[in-house]
Amino acid sequence: MKRHNFSAGPSILNREVIEKASQAVLDFDNGLSLLEISHRSKPFVDVMEKARALALELLGLEGKGYKALFLQGGASTQFMMVALNLLEKRAGYLNTGTWSDKAIKEARIFDDIYEVASSKDANYTYIPKGYDIPNDYDYFHCTSNNTIFGTQIKQFPDSPIPMVCDMSSDIFSRTLDFSKFDLIYAGAQKNMGPAGTTLVVVKESILGKVSRKIPSIMDYKVHIDKSSMFNTPPVFAVYVSMLTMEWLKSLGGIAAIEKENEKKAQLIYSEIDLNPLFKGFATKEDRSIMNATFTLANEDLKETFDTMVKEAGISGINGHRSVGGYRASMYNAMPLESVGTLVDVMSELERKA
Ligand SMILES: *Cc1c(COP(=O)(O)O)cnc(C)c1O
Repeated sequence: MKRHNFSAGPSILNREVIEKASQAVLDFDNGLSLLEISHRSKPFVDVMEKARALALELLGLEGKGYKALFLQGGASTQFMMVALNLLEKRAGYLNTGTWSDKAIKEARIFDDIYEVASSKDANYTYIPKGYDIPNDYDYFHCTSNNTIFGTQIKQFPDSPIPMVCDMSSDIFSRTLDFSKFDLIYAGAQKNMGPAGTTLVVVKESILGKVSRKIPSIMDYKVHIDKSSMFNTPPVFAVYVSMLTMEWLKSLGGIAAIEKENEKKAQLIYSEIDLNPLFKGFATKEDRSIMNATFTLANEDLKETFDTMVKEAGISGINGHRSVGGYRASMYNAMPLESVGTLVDVMSELERKA
């Protein structure tokens, strides 16, 4: 049976990428596996350099003073690392969901954090707008896409201070002026590759301004100086991320995939809005094109719907425990056809009920 993988993360990868990656596990360099060669060998150094270059190329940030790094510890480590490297006096954070909240909690270990705005009181159903960013703070932090709640920032503020953004769940999914951001980070396992590496894209000129001593492995400058090879990098995760970026480039880059992502989002949201059995969770104008969150209007239909979903080969649509209901994650690698299958099941439920 054809499977349709709506998992929020780790999540769907392009099938050809998985096949190429499998081949590299068996034979990457004249009979040696990718998993057993030195990370300092030329074949792997080439992979790392290509991955770093592709990340900047896809984001349109080549030659603009940015460096790309592939680090470990997930996006969760970035919550601390951003603060260690950039926080001197005070920083402003936009609180739009569980991940923003965690980023704030970690940064508060180091210093005072000011929440410029929050939608916590409304269970993060919307994105706050019209807030002010103090111009004498060290940086402003936001989360571009709220994976759990299914909201997404559509219009980024013109920040008077360096802007840091957690793009874990929508990196490479839509065109933006990425030069508005001074530091972008993204755990690979949502929209870029397997779990195990985190992409960090940082404008070098914002570094080196804090007075604290930073442990080497937490220091962006050290990683930049060592070309993202300060310690043994997660070779497999970097390789698969590189393959995914190559695949994306071959499709025409972010602008091309954005069109597909919009089609997928439109398909599912129009079903959610037209089908009386379903209710969208997020405010319409802030809906994510990556993670669509919705609930059943009548919980009694849950068993029937869940069975139909399973029979159609659909997996991974259970909502996060803090939201309930359903979440369809439609990352870059997901074909429109899979969203079509889910929508067919939703309308079939309406006919049956
Ligand atoms: C999944 C996720 C994280 C956490 O990523 P880890 O790699 O598991 O640490 C952080 N931010 C966002 C927006 C996420 O979706």
